[in-house]
Amino acid sequence: MVGMSARPENYFPADYRSARGAFLKACAAAGLRSVARVHPTAKARDGKPLFLDTATVGAHEAESALLLISGTHGVEGYFGSGVQTGLLREGLARRVPKTAKVVLLHALNPYGFSWDRRVDDDNADVNRNFIDHANPPVNKGYETLADAIAPKDISPETLRAANARLRAYSQTHGAVALQEAISKGQYAFPDGLYFGGRRRSWSAAMLHDVFREELTWVKKLIVIDFHTGLGAHGEGEMISEDLPGSAPYLRAKSLWGARVKSSEAGESVSVPLTGTIDKAFARWMKDRDLTFAALEMGTVATREVFLALRKDNWLHRIAGAAHSATESIRREIRGAFYPDTQDWKRKAWTAAYEAVGAALAALG
Ligand SMILES: [Zn+2]
Repeated sequence: MVGMSARPENYFPADYRSARGAFLKACAAAGLRSVARVHPTAKARDGKPLFLDTATVGAHEAESALLLISGTHGVEGYFGSGVQTGLLREGLARRVPKTAKVVLLHALNPYGFSWDRRVDDDNADVNRNFIDHANPPVNKGYETLADAIAPKDISPETLRAANARLRAYSQTHGAVALQEAISKGQYAFPDGLYFGGRRRSWSAAMLHDVFREELTWVKKLIVIDFHTGLGAHGEGEMISEDLPGSAPYLRAKSLWGARVKSSEAGESVSVPLTGTIDKAFARWMKDRDLTFAALEMGTVATREVFLALRKDNWLHRIAGAAHSATESIRREIRGAFYPDTQDWKRKAWTAAYEAVGAALAALG
């Protein structure tokens, strides 16, 4: 099932600023009021302010809702933003069941979106940030491999030696243990990769704020958080953090079928993670009817994504953004999370359109 548009690739933006402009224009054309939350300190790449925007379709006090989140991981926002704008242009406002509402949250991490980075302005991974910061989880694997995961320089010799250490760890402990060490989330190395932050991030605070204003009273909530960078090129996976057999997992399966994979059960392209938005919503919703999935679209090979992240980390935490490699590294990380091709965009659009359609049907 493809959306009405013959050219869905046209929904996808070229940069944060035009993405925001297109989103707000699509909201206005649909007769929707949007709410802007401005970042208090960080600025965009064009020197202007950064915003997290929300728009709601349907009755404010509706008791069932669908929340669509883009840009949790900054640079991954091209995908989610394109989907949100495309849905609005294709008449989302007419498709929402009378008793339900849809909340569109655009650019949860606008800094990362604007600067083509996965992290926020504090080097925090927003989808690892929802923890008790007084008692952060420990990631022993990361501690063992910190210098090899985020090397102090990115010369070919250093990277070769670092990769040899990672391979040795994988041979001893297994490939899954290595993936966990790298990407599960870590709270001890502020200059490292997959750092969950030392404090609650602005994005985390704003997400809770949106929840309080729009969703506190909701009895039934479906959330789709749009991501890219894991899995085979053009393949979409609905990642659930619930265990097979549990009620929320079964609800996700009934909506999205075979695309649903549990990261907690080892079915997914992702390993189990700490401090995620999924876990935050599970706390906020307590025992209410919550169905959460990260729609993860594969882009390029994992080793290419990882290399781009290491270079980006080195550039911003060690070399400094004035370095001559800044532009080439920015293009590399953008390409790793956003394949700028018609084919990929059509596949991404189709996966998202189907996922949203199934969620809307379940709200009715
Ligand atoms: Zn992501």
